[in-house]
Amino acid sequence: MTTATPQPGQLIVITGPSGVGKGTLLRQLRQRHPELALSVSATTRPPRPTEIEGIDYYFVSVEDFQAMIAAGKLLEWAEFAGHYYGTPRDPLLQLIAQGKTVILEIELQGARQVRQSYPQARHIFILPPSLAELEHRLRNRGQDSEEAIARRLAQAETEIAAAPEFDVQIVNDDLEKSLIALETAIFSPVP
Ligand code: 5GP
Repeated sequence: MTTATPQPGQLIVITGPSGVGKGTLLRQLRQRHPELALSVSATTRPPRPTEIEGIDYYFVSVEDFQAMIAAGKLLEWAEFAGHYYGTPRDPLLQLIAQGKTVILEIELQGARQVRQSYPQARHIFILPPSLAELEHRLRNRGQDSEEAIARRLAQAETEIAAAPEFDVQIVNDDLEKSLIALETAIFSPVP
């Protein structure tokens, strides 16, 4: 009996301003579809109290991050709100080779790099109902300093302006509706 080689999996890029609710949406999506793989990024941002090394992020020093860039270990990377963030290349490509659908939750500059280096990826942008609601969610989350919130809001305006570049846009005003829209975007056949 021969073993079939798995078809390469799909790469799904999810982008949207900080505070828009990507984390909650992705947690719910993973509960419904445990077969989906979430790429774990490296970052130089300090961990938040609830975050776990190797699950939420690989928390690394600036020196280690720069060494990863120099060694070509990152599929994409960007500086966001004063910290580096990047996607480790090899684990991601291995999962795709195994036929997994892999989700990257990354910001705009990184999403643009992936579009260049991996054109087959499907790009989804999550929008807030309004900027005022985004500010409200960032404050309610209670995880960031005033300075970090201000930086994230300024960045949000730039990101939202780029939403039309993405294959699919989802306004996250209702969790259940957004989840269904996300499932449709991820699982609908490649045109
Ligand atoms: P946070 O600090 O709130 O966890 O993430 C800040 C921003 O960095 C979010 O928009 C998130 O999507 C983005 N981000 C997380 N990991 C990566 C990554 O590996 N690459 C890039 N380019 N952005 C990332």
